[in-house]
Amino acid sequence: MRVTVDEDRCEGHALCVESAPDVFDIGDDDLAIWDEHPPAGTEKSVRAAIAACPRQAISISTSP
Ligand code: SF4
Repeated sequence: MRVTVDEDRCEGHALCVESAPDVFDIGDDDLAIWDEHPPAGTEKSVRAAIAACPRQAISISTSP
């Protein structure tokens, strides 16, 4: 699983961090930073973060 955040859409609401704190954080620029290749077992929380993001900025793909 590869996680991508569209930084043009992200507004730093941090709802992704609440949903998946092991994968997302807020960086010094107040926008999301994230683990592009999170470990197995995080997919459910990443999907919750996708649902929670008010900017629809997060996507996942199966490509490396
Ligand atoms: S919830 Fe969405 S808009 Fe907010 S910090 Fe996370 S990726 Fe960015």
